[in-house]
Amino acid sequence: MESFFDTEIAVLGAGPAGATFARLAGEKHALTVIDRRCLTNNETTLGKCCGGLLSPDAQRALASQGLTLPLDVLVSPQIFAVHVMDLPSGTQQAYSRSYVNLDRQKLDRWLVSCIPRHVPLLDQTVCLHISQDQQGRFLLRLKDRGGESSLLRARYLVGADGAASLVRRTFFPNRPIRQYVAVQELYQADSVSPFFGALFDPQLTDCYGWLISKGQQLFLGAAFPKDKVSSRFTQLRQKLEQIGYRFGARLAREGCLVSRPAGPFDFCTGSGRVLLLGEAAGFVSPSSLQGISYALDSGAILAEALDLETHDPAAKYHRATLALRRQLLGKLLKCPFLYQPAIRRALMGSGIFSLPVSQAPTGLPWKCR
Ligand SMILES: Cc1cc2nc3c(=O)[nH]c(=O)nc-3n(C[C@H](O)[C@H](O)[C@H](O)COP(=O)(O)OP(=O)(O)OC[C@H]3O[C@@H](n4cnc5c(N)ncnc54)[C@H](O)[C@@H]3O)c2cc1C
Repeated sequence: MESFFDTEIAVLGAGPAGATFARLAGEKHALTVIDRRCLTNNETTLGKCCGGLLSPDAQRALASQGLTLPLDVLVSPQIFAVHVMDLPSGTQQAYSRSYVNLDRQKLDRWLVSCIPRHVPLLDQTVCLHISQDQQGRFLLRLKDRGGESSLLRARYLVGADGAASLVRRTFFPNRPIRQYVAVQELYQADSVSPFFGALFDPQLTDCYGWLISKGQQLFLGAAFPKDKVSSRFTQLRQKLEQIGYRFGARLAREGCLVSRPAGPFDFCTGSGRVLLLGEAAGFVSPSSLQGISYALDSGAILAEALDLETHDPAAKYHRATLALRRQLLGKLLKCPFLYQPAIRRALMGSGIFSLPVSQAPTGLPWKCR
């Protein structure tokens, strides 16, 4: 027989948003956290497709929550410049940047390890369906790794379930968000020196691609419109090979949806007793696709704002995210400078804010200025 259990708040997703909310709200409320990934040991099953760069905003978010990163989350090398490449024109330019290069799976496991021990965490458990009973309580149909089904009943539902959010699709079907398909391949990279590149090619995507060194690997990824994704990725790789890039043996290929808000209506923080966090709410930078900081911030904002005695907790949370939403809309204003080819090339050509590079990274066809 199917098992059945109750909780006050069901948190679907234990990525940076859900884990942060559970860490900060777990002392005040009775939560149950569900995630399909294995987040409690080192099994390498499902991972999160991600560049794994911690932006200055994410570093600030961790600092404001009193957190410091354990060393084993970091990945060598730490890189202090981004090489921007406009592929059709062959224009290249370097800019100083202070990202932290990390292992995304280890970051997520570490954030989960910070959740108070008394909070039930059902990892390797997928939520297949969500409905409501006659009293308006949420019924989450779950299936664990062994194929066992169960039903979780909750008064409140927190959707921290990322770009493909089941919670958002179920409760806010009229609030779709602009999305892309991100594809990333990992290659052996013994002969290439550390590198972080941002790749622009409007023939392949109106978003962007990236090359990131991680240990002995090189990640090549890009976010594409939803059609002809595989062929667009192949063309990207071929274009890089044509200008001299050499990729080692392919170690893995991964992909997922990524949200890219196009305006204020793409943000959806929830309503009634359903609340959305992180990428499920649309909190991702439309200019860089950076989303870890907004996941950390929104998790903390909800933990602070959530008062179950309040008449309308969703309205309070929505108001509390105003600064975050304004910050993201500010990033939209930055997009033309990056994504309009003529403006981007003019800016790159002017050399404004750029970093003179005297030494080309070994093994990469970088044009020194
Ligand atoms: C290719 C790529 C590269 C990126 N690179 C960067 C980067 O370098 N730096 C950066 O800051 N941001 C980056 N981002 C964005 C960043 O990864 C996300 O914004 C961030 O992970 C959002 O956190 P989250 O907790 O909201 O969602 P997620 O991290 O996506 O977590 C959602 C969780 O919900 C779980 N889940 C979903 N549905 C279910 C279900 N039905 N049942 C059970 N569990 C479920 C998933 O397993 C997952 O653990 C990148 C995104 C992509 C796609």
